[in-house]
Amino acid sequence: THFGFETVTEQEKRKRVAGVFTSVAESYDRMNDLMSFGWHRVWKDHFVSSLNPGFSPLSASSATGPQHILDIAGGTGDIAFRMLHHAHNINANPSVRVTISDINRAMLQVGKARSAELPASHQASLSFVEANAEDLTRTRPLQPILSEAEQTFFDPATATSGIPDASVDLYTVAFGIRNFSNIPAALREARRVLKPGGVFACLEFSKADKLPLFNAVYKEWSFRAIPLIGQLVAGDRDSYQYLVESIERFPSQEDFRDMIVDAGLAVAGKGYEDLTGGVAAIHKGMKP
Ligand code: SAM
Repeated sequence: THFGFETVTEQEKRKRVAGVFTSVAESYDRMNDLMSFGWHRVWKDHFVSSLNPGFSPLSASSATGPQHILDIAGGTGDIAFRMLHHAHNINANPSVRVTISDINRAMLQVGKARSAELPASHQASLSFVEANAEDLTRTRPLQPILSEAEQTFFDPATATSGIPDASVDLYTVAFGIRNFSNIPAALREARRVLKPGGVFACLEFSKADKLPLFNAVYKEWSFRAIPLIGQLVAGDRDSYQYLVESIERFPSQEDFRDMIVDAGLAVAGKGYEDLTGGVAAIHKGMKP
């Protein structure tokens, strides 16, 4: 493959992923629209409303306390901002807090800049944290980027805190997990930080092979058009080539569901929902 990922170490993969997201950070939001014909917005809206953040059959000040949502690989904030809107505005529950966590400071800084447009109450419920999803015991509040040459990849040696056991009500990860070097470790961390009864929810590209004709068109689009659009719009063919290949390598819906179960999370029914013929899928699991 392009980067020969099969032969590189986890650490090298992590560095390459860091390079990809540092170079795409500025163009990331525009490229998402172009590459998915805007579909990523529909999937994200559906993902968030299916989780119904902030919903409480009791009052917002119920004995369970304020909900804490941890958005892992939260990047430029698309999921976190929707969560806050849904909880505060639709469910009228302003006590919901969201932490956006990402390994890449450049992506988080774009998210932080975007968050300046949010209502003040949403901004006050939002925090930004640098962390590797595979080890959430080491985190650091978002740091400024002081120079262009600076390493924007989170270095665990600089950690000042961590996410405690059983402290999170809802763990979300959207279009992030396929980039992780060690997915089982990230799933174990998800289980550790969730409260009993807390929910793990993942939105990720998946396999559309249940519809062969549609799949053929989709594959053609991904492998030919996306790297080209990356080159023309973002001036960066390699990063977008990597994104397409990482989708191809990610496990099927069923195999990923089995990994969630292996990490000790409980799934209901088949454990996932296909979106747009399986181009993307939502997986959910509950910490027993
Ligand atoms: N969730 C956002 C969204 O849906 O728009 C951003 C998704 S973006 C495609 C993937 C993100 O995963 C990037 O911001 C990248 O820095 C982050 N990432 C990659 N490896 C990571 C890791 N090991 N731990 C935490 N974040 C990681």
